[in-house]
Amino acid sequence: MAEPLTMDAIVSLCRRRGFVFPSSEIYGGLGSSYDYGHYGVLLKENVKARWLEAMVQEREDIVALDSAIILHPQVWEASGHVGGFTDPLVDCRHCKKRFRADHLDVDQCGQRPSKHPGETSDCDLTEARQFNLMFETRVGPVEETGKTVFLRPETAQGIFINFKNVAQLARRKPPFGIAQVGKSFRNEITPGNFIFRTLEFEQMEMEFFVPPDEAEQWYRYWIDERFAWYTRYGIRPENLRVRPHDQDELSHYSTGTSDIEYLYPIGWSELEGVANRGRFDLTAHTEASGTKLEWVDSATGERYTPAVIEPAAGLNRSMLAFLCDAYDEEVVGERERTVLRLHPEIAPVKVAVLPLVPRDAEMASRARALHGELRRVMLAEHDDNGQIGRRYRRQDEIGTPFAVTVDEQTLADDTVTVRDRDSLAQERVSIARVREHLLDRLGADWHPPARG
Ligand code: ATP
Repeated sequence: MAEPLTMDAIVSLCRRRGFVFPSSEIYGGLGSSYDYGHYGVLLKENVKARWLEAMVQEREDIVALDSAIILHPQVWEASGHVGGFTDPLVDCRHCKKRFRADHLDVDQCGQRPSKHPGETSDCDLTEARQFNLMFETRVGPVEETGKTVFLRPETAQGIFINFKNVAQLARRKPPFGIAQVGKSFRNEITPGNFIFRTLEFEQMEMEFFVPPDEAEQWYRYWIDERFAWYTRYGIRPENLRVRPHDQDELSHYSTGTSDIEYLYPIGWSELEGVANRGRFDLTAHTEASGTKLEWVDSATGERYTPAVIEPAAGLNRSMLAFLCDAYDEEVVGERERTVLRLHPEIAPVKVAVLPLVPRDAEMASRARALHGELRRVMLAEHDDNGQIGRRYRRQDEIGTPFAVTVDEQTLADDTVTVRDRDSLAQERVSIARVREHLLDRLGADWHPPARG
């Protein structure tokens, strides 16, 4: 790809192919809320599945949890969110826009030509005020007597408050972890940049409980593990970096945090945070609830409060990073094509079955039968609409790694063409072996090819 990738190119592909659309569009949209269409859902679900596999299926020391979104309000007092989950905001009295005081060097001023807030002579910024990011709502039918509760701004607290339940039931001994994927909500004051920062989003968080004297070692371990997970699914290592937080950036609970950053079209930005939360959370909830959240060895009677290492990833931000890294434009035989070179294991559709001449009844029925067979084991699409070149391009744009074409030769010798999205190589495979052939190739190692 000759030009640097822009966010507009990603937004436009997502819209064109129905991955992601602005939410509530028929009512004029609601800034920074997005709806996920068919391919967006499939891609997001695949990213989530790969995360759960790496966390739960491939390990013996992590179990899964799905806690409620609305928790007892005291959870958020004990965690420090009611008092401290704030962003500093400033308003501009001139353009009436609102900005994050700590993002002035990247935000755009409300006037043209566009500058950073505070840079034009008309800018008239207020002092910074703290603004809590939690959405409030009420439980109970009567407004006045209802209890104020919050939509969770992170999934982590649902894990901490279940520590005792899970540790007992799962019969796990530290080091062990609890993993959870689910929606979180933040009343972000300066949303924007497509699905990078939205009002609601999904998090993939894992709290790893360890003996306190092993915390530092596990903190390092999880930074490396999480970095490797992104490259395993196709992100180019040169587009990833680890940025340790400066001392003054650390959250109140953290003794060490490193962001795994991705080189998005908007520049290096956080993809995932890995934090050494020490004993803050379990101690805070023990004190506030009166329930001891500690690990007790039933054999020796030893008891202690474990420290916690947290890799906290954003599902939507990961999906955006996978999309950006996969996006490519190239010229093939004087024709431009846009292709998403997604890792086959996260690609929304694995194979497209295409009858070369759809009106040929024999070809059509062979293609239908093959599609029926393949869809039992993988996400397979059947497409008989339009010229074959256009059908290939449609599949390239949604990142389908393989296209199987049923043509005249199929009728003569029971073989089909398997086309590779990345190399464009075409191979003849016997129809009886296609399913096995594709399963082998889908399970093989995959590395991102050079950009076109
Ligand atoms: P940022 O500094 O970008 O606001 P954060 O440090 O507050 O992020 P965390 O609290 O560490 O984020 O949340 C863990 C992950 O959740 C982030 O790395 C990101 O991937 C994701 N995330 C956080 N806020 C949002 C949001 N508003 N929209 C989409 N994803 C988000």
